Amino acid sequence: MTKQEIWKAVQNSDANYDGIFFYAVKTTRIFCRPSCKSKLPKKENICYFASARQARDAGFRPCKRCRSDLLEYDPMHEIAIEIKQKLKNAIENEQNQVMQLDDIGLTPRRLTDIFKQEYGMTPKEYMDTLRLRNARYMLEKTDKKIIDVAYASAFTSLSAFNRFFKKHTGQTPSAYRRICKQSKEE
Ligand SMILES: [Zn+2]
Repeated sequence: MTKQEIWKAVQNSDANYDGIFFYAVKTTRIFCRPSCKSKLPKKENICYFASARQARDAGFRPCKRCRSDLLEYDPMHEIAIEIKQKLKNAIENEQNQVMQLDDIGLTPRRLTDIFKQEYGMTPKEYMDTLRLRNARYMLEKTDKKIIDVAYASAFTSLSAFNRFFKKHTGQTPSAYRRICKQSKEE
């Protein structure tokens, strides 16, 4: 983007540039999105920022009229959502890929911190919750063999599944299934 293009976008209140840059007015200490309908400021009083956060860091306040704060991009929040989606996909594909989040480009520790901040649990805990929910559902509602339930919940062995299930529910998978069926028959 050239300076000319940017200034033109401001002059035209061009909404196509919303989120691409922000302009701040030095005299009022307020920053706006390009589409803001406020009175056009003098060109020499304007400075530009790539993000709302940068404008804030430079001491400007968001404009109440165009609500430039609503375009604030929160990369940590986005990353947390991305991790969550990947974990969900992994479960749907019957994979336990907690550690295969390398392409996000963060260390496992940082990744865990970001996720925990957002959701109050680690990716592993979240993954376990999904696996447990899956397993319970299959034990209760289907006639799948327990070994198949184990594989479908991304366990590589029956004993690992048994251990996991017992730890979280206090019962073995087969006992859990029996109780579910019994209570249905009563
Ligand atoms: Zn504004």
